[in-house]
Amino acid sequence: MPVSPSKTAKKTVSAEAKLAKLGLHTDMDLVLHLPMRYEDETQVISIEEARLHGGDTSQVEGVVTKNEIAYKPRRQLLVHISDGSGELQLRFMNFYGSQVKQLSEGVRVRVRGELKHGFFGAEMVHPAYKVVNEGAPLPTSLTPVYPAGEGLSQLVLRRAITDAMKRVDWTDTVPIDIRRQLQLSELEPAVKLLHYPPQQVDEHALADRSHPAWTRVKFDELLAQQLSLKRAQRARRAKGSPALKKVGELSKQLEAALPFKLTGAQQRVLKEIRADLKQPYPMQRLLQGDVGSGKTVVSALAAAQAIDSGYQAALMAPTEILAEQHFRKIAAWLEPLGVKVAWLTGSLKKKEKQAAYEAIESGEARLVVGTHALLQDVVTFANLGLSIVDEQHRFGVGQRLVLRNKGMEGSVPHQLMMSATPIPRTLAMTYYADLEVSVIDELPPGRSPIVTRTIDQNRRDEVIERVHAAAQEGRQVYWVCPLIEESEVLQLQTATETHALLAEALPDLNVGLVHGRMKPAEKQEVMDAFIANRMQVLVATTVIEVGVDVPNASLMVIEHAERFGLSQLHQLRGRVGRGSAASVCLLLYQSPLGQIAKQRLMTMRETTDGFEIARRDLEIRGPGEFLGARQSGQAMLRFADLETDGWLVDQARDVAHDLLHADTPEKAATVEAHLARWLGGREEFLKV
Ligand code: ADP
Ligand code: MG
Repeated sequence: MPVSPSKTAKKTVSAEAKLAKLGLHTDMDLVLHLPMRYEDETQVISIEEARLHGGDTSQVEGVVTKNEIAYKPRRQLLVHISDGSGELQLRFMNFYGSQVKQLSEGVRVRVRGELKHGFFGAEMVHPAYKVVNEGAPLPTSLTPVYPAGEGLSQLVLRRAITDAMKRVDWTDTVPIDIRRQLQLSELEPAVKLLHYPPQQVDEHALADRSHPAWTRVKFDELLAQQLSLKRAQRARRAKGSPALKKVGELSKQLEAALPFKLTGAQQRVLKEIRADLKQPYPMQRLLQGDVGSGKTVVSALAAAQAIDSGYQAALMAPTEILAEQHFRKIAAWLEPLGVKVAWLTGSLKKKEKQAAYEAIESGEARLVVGTHALLQDVVTFANLGLSIVDEQHRFGVGQRLVLRNKGMEGSVPHQLMMSATPIPRTLAMTYYADLEVSVIDELPPGRSPIVTRTIDQNRRDEVIERVHAAAQEGRQVYWVCPLIEESEVLQLQTATETHALLAEALPDLNVGLVHGRMKPAEKQEVMDAFIANRMQVLVATTVIEVGVDVPNASLMVIEHAERFGLSQLHQLRGRVGRGSAASVCLLLYQSPLGQIAKQRLMTMRETTDGFEIARRDLEIRGPGEFLGARQSGQAMLRFADLETDGWLVDQARDVAHDLLHADTPEKAATVEAHLARWLGGREEFLKV
């Protein structure tokens, strides 16, 4: 006969559901649910001693001498305890009737909390407490505090974890020779120590997670990540890519036709890229170089190699303005050499789009430049051999994946990603296991340094004077409007007003306006006028942040510079200093400046080095937003910290390599067991 579930059974079901909500499904999940911190309940000190400590959390024990509900200023429970050395008041603002009874006179309690010197004397507000018998033993290990979900008590979690620890298979998945070599502790004692650290443990090492037990856990986690990334890489490699073997006529002609000679750094990275493209498996390379370092031409030469080898190439950029600049520049280089370059963006007319789709599908277009529009399903390539993504961090992982899936049946195109934002090395390593990085660390010759000044907004008139003077000398000027994050409409309005104001103040100059809401054709008209120097001053919103290239522009004014982030300011400033004329960047600010804004502006004044700026940016705002890299590998990390545990990433990477290449059945089984233990079903994250 079916028995209706008892009350206790119901309870366990709901606890299970709550555990599941935290992602804790299996015993191993529970065992690897590690404490975020610990409480020390191993010692009781006298009330007198606790008073002297003042402020710290301490644990005392005493007998209740008084228990009353007071009503001033509001209803609260006041309990006094005494241990002979002194007296302490416990104050509860929220309490149950049962607590009033529980803490009645004569009862012995162990109390833990922060002792304050209140009006009455020593007092703890809402301490943790436990009714005990005299001489009740103290715990011998620190008490773990776990990340817990709503309605899940520490007690329930602790019990579930303790039970799970008795049941799991503790087989160490890191082979003993590796453990010895890296001096890693064994898994079981390490994990047990983290759940129940003995009294004499180094609490600091535990707290800052530098304790060997933590190191072991982090290593395992990173190893799982690296194994999984490398397997994803294998899967990619198994698919293969067309080997772009020919650096032929087109490549040579293009290089010869350039109006400049490649810098040493450009030549070096080009060599790296060329070698990768010749391989029959996909290149995954990030081309990193400061604003203005000349990444575009390198990407065009990479495309030439694909075309020389009989394949198509695609170049995708995050904004229409940027994509269009690339298109114009690259088409101007390649079309005279007989290469058809297609242009694709969402704003094209239907007919134009259709023509582009057809040219791409038939293979007539050898190179396609465009925006996200390239990602649409209707875009089918004849034989895509190389995909290039500019300002790659502005795209999501998923978007990059779509482009990668546009290769031919059974193969993926090589990928070249470009970015002016340097990624810290460890981050790069957990991004793609096989991400290679090429760095252009040299600017083309003849660039003049940019002088950056900060100026109070109320001296705008003087700034307008300077703009006028610069234009008189034949130079061109960008005037960047304030960023208004909350409202695009407001931003547009400000831009329009600024434009009107400058046009009025500078009647003898042609002042143009470009912003994100303009139709592409209008935008292009303005940009054309500016490029041709028919327009001296260009008022712009941040649409010019990336990629715009007008070498004759040598003065940049940024209004309300305090509202921009460092990398944004750096990108903007990179629009000047591209020609031979000495360039100036004026950062107008509204005082008073906050601390962070002050630091940013100071950084801008002090350096034009993108790497240094990125470093300081990291310092000022922490690694959180950096690069949106959380999207990928980092999302899997619970314990390891890429900033402090970089050395462990290196070790994990090497071990992962060894394990995957040692083709013994035991090692293969080890890999599987390790991945199952650490990732469970979460490997999906890395498929991209
Ligand atoms: P970024 O790396 O910021 O994308 P670009 O590719 O737009 O930089 O290059 C910036 C400018 O420098 C462009 O006008 C480009 O034509 C020019 N340039 C690139 N390489 C060289 C070089 N080796 N010598 C001189 N000018 C160069
Ligand atoms: Mg660029």
